[in-house]
Order: sequence, then C-alpha cells, then structure tokens
Amino acid sequence: MSEKKQLLKSVFGHDRFRSFQEEAVDAILAKKDLLMILPTGGGKSLCYQLPSLLMEGVTVVVSPLLALMHDQVLALKSNGIAAQMITSMQTSDEIAHIQHALRLNKLKLLYVAPERFNQEYFLALLHEIKINFFVIDEAHCVSAWGHEFREDYRKLHLLKEAFPEVSIAAFTATATPKVQADITHALRLEKPQVLRGKVFRDNLHISVEPRIKDGRVQLLEFLKNFPNESGIIYAFSRKQTEVLAKFLQTQGIKAKPFHAGLSTSEKNQTFKAFTHDEVQVVVATIAFGMGIDKSNIRFVVHMSLPKTIENYYQEIGRAGRDGLASEVLLLYSGADRIMQAEFIAQLEASEYKNHAFDKLEQMSGFTMMEGCRHVYIANYFEDDIAVCQTLCDNCMAPQSEKSDITQEAQMLLSSVYRTGGRFGQAYVIDVLRGTNSEKIQANGHDTLALFGIGEAHTKAYWEGIVQRLMELGALKRGAFRALELDKVGLEILKNKRTVSIDTLRLEAKIKKTRPIHHESFNAETSMQEQSHTFETLRALRAQIAKQEGKPAYIVFSDKTLKEMAHILPQDKRAMLSLHGVGQMKFERYGEAFLECCRSLR
Ligand code: ADP
Repeated sequence: MSEKKQLLKSVFGHDRFRSFQEEAVDAILAKKDLLMILPTGGGKSLCYQLPSLLMEGVTVVVSPLLALMHDQVLALKSNGIAAQMITSMQTSDEIAHIQHALRLNKLKLLYVAPERFNQEYFLALLHEIKINFFVIDEAHCVSAWGHEFREDYRKLHLLKEAFPEVSIAAFTATATPKVQADITHALRLEKPQVLRGKVFRDNLHISVEPRIKDGRVQLLEFLKNFPNESGIIYAFSRKQTEVLAKFLQTQGIKAKPFHAGLSTSEKNQTFKAFTHDEVQVVVATIAFGMGIDKSNIRFVVHMSLPKTIENYYQEIGRAGRDGLASEVLLLYSGADRIMQAEFIAQLEASEYKNHAFDKLEQMSGFTMMEGCRHVYIANYFEDDIAVCQTLCDNCMAPQSEKSDITQEAQMLLSSVYRTGGRFGQAYVIDVLRGTNSEKIQANGHDTLALFGIGEAHTKAYWEGIVQRLMELGALKRGAFRALELDKVGLEILKNKRTVSIDTLRLEAKIKKTRPIHHESFNAETSMQEQSHTFETLRALRAQIAKQEGKPAYIVFSDKTLKEMAHILPQDKRAMLSLHGVGQMKFERYGEAFLECCRSLR
C-alpha cells in the first residue's frame, strides 16, 4: 500500500480517496500550484493535510475566520497532528511558544488570518523556517466577483513575491470560471493544476415553497422531521431572528438567535452551545455561518429569499458536511424580491448594482423554476450535471398538472415587440393591463391594439408569465434591464411552439412538506432499535466531549456513530474499519466505545 493510502487510513480513518482528492495530494507533493473547486463537504481539508504529513517543513494555511481555524486545529490535534494557529486572540506568551515550536521544526500546520501577512515580523519569521507549501482556504475571498470579497486576501500576491519557490494550493467551494481566473491572477499562481468537482451536493434534498404568512406553520411542520437534530434557520433581520427563536422556544425547541448586534460573549456562547449540541437550532442572519464547520447540521431553512444563488449555495452548504442525508427548505414570497430590489435601487449606480439586480433575478427564478433545482444551481456556476431525480421537490413531484398559457405568452411577447423591446417588465405589463400612465401616453402606447387586453389578470399573474418566458429563453434582459425577445419568443409568436406552466404556480398553492428519508443501514433492524443504539452511543460521545471540552463531532462524526450503531464492532480491528476511526482516535476513544458496543449487542 502506498504511504499516502496508509496515512489516509491510519491518521484520518478513511478507506479510500474521494473524487479529486488523490489528484490534489499528488499535485501538492509534486510542488505544483493548485486550484481546487469542490463543493462544501467534498473533503478539501484532507487534500492539504495529508501531503503536509509527507513533506518536510511546515504548511502555512491562510483562513478567513477564527472559528474556522479553531475547529480545524482542534480536529487535527485530535488526529495526533501537530497543528497551531496564530491569532489576535492569543497572549504574547502563547504566540512566542508557537514561534519557538516553528523554529524547532516541531509543527506540521500553522493556521493564520490574511491580515497577519501585513506584519513585518511575521514575514521575517516565515523566512526563518522551512515552508513546504502555502494553503489559501476560502480562496474566493480574493475575488471582487465573488460574494465574500476580503481586502486582505487581495494582497496575498505577496506570497509568490516573497516566497517564489514555495507552491500555493488554493481551495474554494464556489467559483464561477470568472472567479477562478481572478483567483489565479490575484495569487499569481503559475500554471496551476485546476481540479473542479461537480457543483452537486448529492446528500442535500432541496425544497422550495411559497411562504404562507410568516411561515411558522410550515416551519414547525418541517421541524417535526428533525427531533433533536441540529439545524440553522436564516431569517431576514435581526429582529426576526429574535422573535422566531423565542417562538420556537415556546414550542419546546432549543433555539437561540444569532446576529451581528449581539455582544461577542453572547455570540460565542451560542456558537459554543450549538457546536456542543446543547442548542438545537440557531436562528440567524447571514452573520452566522461562515465559520461553522459543524459536520452534523441536518437541515437549513431560509425564511425569506436569499440575495444571490452564491449566498444560497454557501448557506445550504453548511448542512450535511458529514455526507449524511440532509434537508434544506426555502420559504419565499414575491414581496421579498420587491423589497430587495428596492434596496438595490437605492444604491449608487455602479457595475455592482447591475450585477445585484441580475443576481436577484436569478435567485428569484430559482424559486419558480420547474426543472431540477440541482441542475439550475450547477448551470448558474457554469457546470453541467444530470437531473438529480430524487433530491429536489421538483424532481420528486408527481407529474404536475400543467396549464396551457400559449395565448397569454403571445400577448406578453407582443407587448414587448410592439413597444420596441425598450422597456422593463413593469411597463410592458402596464401596457397589457391598460394602465394609463403619463409615460405610456407620451409614447403613444395607449393607442396600440393590445393596450388593455390583459386587464383580466393581476400584475402578479403577468409577472409569473414573464418569469416562465425567461426560463424558457423566450425573453431576455437587454440594456437597462429592458425586456427583449429571444429566439424561442419568436417561435411562440409565430405559433411554432406552445407554452405551459405548472398550474400550482399560477395559483400559488402550497406544496406539502415531504417527509425526508434518513439513511438507514439495515432494513431488517427496526428503526426503534437502531435509534436506541445510536442514542446510547451519542450520549457517550456527549459525555466524552464535555469532559474534553470539545464539540461532539470532533470526537466522532455522526457518520461514524451511525456506522458504529449498525455494525456494533466488538474488537479493535472492527472498530478501526469504521469511517473516521484512525489509530489516534482509537487510542483516545476506542476502548470506551468498544465497551459500550459490547454492552449493546
Ligand atoms: P470541505 O472542506 O470540502 O467542506 P471537509 O474537509 O470538511 O470538507 O470534509 C467533509 C467531511 O468529509 C469530513 O467529515 C471528513 O472527515 C470527510 N472526508 C474527507 N475525506 C474523506 C474520505 N476520503 N473518505 C471519507 N470521508 C472523508
């Protein structure tokens, strides 16, 4: 067995590499620059942690958030790997201690925030030690095209300037080809090996529903599927996070709010309680999440429309990092889009502003589309995947009833055509509905034969038709967001194509939440038995985690625990064959869990 594979098993406890991991490890071992784009949960950390162990010197990892570093360092140490971080939270004594260890070549991985490179002393220290390679985690932060731009990341070109011999491995979960090019340029990567995984989270089930009133009834219905399981609920405002968390508490759910307005100590407390499974649900604004490396988050709910697909993908990406089936639900209303559009409209004119409108539109399109939701997200990131078939509400829906809207589509397309393809959606709909505005009169469009032929339908109805026509490629946005006919639009006008729409969409009826299918290892074992075994092991894990002051998933992940509950290993060999159990973990926790498994058989 190669040394790589041996380490994979003995240190990390995995039997085989996942897609692209071995290629990434090889590129790093060959001292090539690397850019890896792999969805959250794809296993990026291992790609640099493993070669670090095989190479002389220390690996310097740049990471944007303290919580993220903290978790990684903890996880590495529990696997017996010498890792440390230098952050503003440490005392000067602690930092001096780490520097000493670095000079003695006693560390394998050092985590730092990008700001650290602004300090002369730190650069001088790096020159004193042997660095095998740099890692840039969350590399999309270097790009202004991305959604989490960080000024200090942009300055990281200094790494290649100061250490031209040292290779760089950059990692991110979300990067369109444009962001990818930006990362390569900003970090001055030299002919990097690019490894791009599919934009597809194959353990996430996605559902989208129009929100009824404040969405609470739908939320409670959804939460019934997850007794005692961890999840995040994203709400629009700080106020809403507090109100909703209080409401959930009255329903017997251990929920806490999280937003930027809370004190640091309150935030830390909630963060810690959540990672230790003492709080079940965090109701948060988007301020929460980037640092969350908790692997057993079983669900993510959005109570309103996210701003962009990038945000949405990143946020749902926090569910199911351990690879187990997880569920995400988005509740939206047309009013969310209008409110966000108004907010963008108030921004000063800029390229960012135009992008923001387009991105909002693509996000809104996601809520109303009829095809596979995973495919829509993949296409957004310019990737191509097969339809998921079972992992989104649209694919799972029984053949839905369709309404023919060819005639309405022709009316709308004619309104676009007759007004010259120069006006936005609101104007085109006003003409159809016969709204007599000054602008319409001034343009003489009130004299068109089609003026007012669509008055039987509401504005919202016509907006739905526009949305459907955009999805079909019958309409597109031109300069100043004017609606223009696209190829399919002409075919519809010439009666060469019909158009249909999901009837429910027109009626904006509500879809029922589907019960989720949790992974089951053995159909013969009754669900009850399995859950008793799992809960016993979970209690032991919680007890050990508490004693050691670590989050439970650092001891063993849910995946490991579920496998253990199914197999109930009776000896060391069987325990070591489980996912996520390496030599080090076995030495620490193996006997305690073996004893528990024996008592359960
Ligand atoms: P990412 O950084 O890409 O979001 P992580 O590095 O956090 O993903 O890994 C996600 C999960 O996958 C972790 O629980 C990790 O232990 C697991 N994992 C990584 N590599 C493998 C592998 N080869 N086999 C099984 N599980 C793996």
